[in-house]
Amino acid sequence: MMRLPNDVVPVSYLMDEETRTLMISWSDGHESVHPYEALRRACPCAWCAGEGGQKGSVDHDTVFTGQQTTLYELTPIGRYGLTPVWGDGHRTGIYTYERLRAVCQCDECRLLRGERR
Ligand SMILES: [Zn+2]
Ligand SMILES: [Zn+2]
Repeated sequence: MMRLPNDVVPVSYLMDEETRTLMISWSDGHESVHPYEALRRACPCAWCAGEGGQKGSVDHDTVFTGQQTTLYELTPIGRYGLTPVWGDGHRTGIYTYERLRAVCQCDECRLLRGERR
């Protein structure tokens, strides 16, 4: 994973209800793109992603409800991360800035990660 310089931080964000996408503007000029469902699927909390070798409850095939993939708000966690608050009340996933950038779904990032079809 590419290391994110310490001074790269989110400067603003936008939740687009119509496309159900979170967009974050970063201090290095990048605009990251996070469709709600992809963001929820990437939830790093122990319950979703598992921990200590235990499988979490979320994987590629998980089917989410509309509530589970509706983003209500973002809570800043210190100076290193954000926690999304989801429609079903789930709010235990701390997404570090590095992780957010690593799961950015913009064309440029997907191309860099070799994910673009
Ligand atoms: Zn979670
Ligand atoms: Zn990107």
